Amino acid sequence: MADHKLVLHPRDPEAPLPPVEVLRGGLIALGLLGPEVERFGDSHHAPGPRFAALLGLRGGRPATRLGAGGAREPVDLADVVSVELLASDEVAFLGGDVATPRCPGCGAEVDDWGERVSALYDGDDAGSVHTCAGCGRASRPWELDWDGTNGFGRLAVAVWHVRDGEAAPSDELAGALAKLTATPWTSFFYRM
Ligand SMILES: [Zn+2]
Repeated sequence: MADHKLVLHPRDPEAPLPPVEVLRGGLIALGLLGPEVERFGDSHHAPGPRFAALLGLRGGRPATRLGAGGAREPVDLADVVSVELLASDEVAFLGGDVATPRCPGCGAEVDDWGERVSALYDGDDAGSVHTCAGCGRASRPWELDWDGTNGFGRLAVAVWHVRDGEAAPSDELAGALAKLTATPWTSFFYRM
């Protein structure tokens, strides 16, 4: 299911994490998550009462969708936006159509990133390390510079139907995520 998403995830995908239900409970209490709803056959959450403020959604942004004849029609934000919590035992590649990553040391393009990610999925930690031919820096896949198009994690909060630039997660939300999981978080905009 391709779509626009804002994806928040722990900065270090290997950091120890609490069970996903701890995160879910904390984000309901915070007001980010509302009741569970079914979307695309999966369990998502409707926006909670403080959703817009916590995510820094552009004030007055009217949610729209394409109607008859290609005109955009205003809709209730709660009808189109939903939040999905993603949890996995293994580190997951969270991006969609990602940019070619670069070495964080010298900026050289990493053309064999697909092989490094495949090694990661195969449990081959050594094979997942990219060693830069230019500067010698060794990087795990999540340490590469993906130019804000990708992330990795075993836990993530995906906010569906939010496009690049439409939201800027607040310091309050970043602080709450870090407190709930005891590790700092970051985010990127998923592109299809
Ligand atoms: Zn380099």
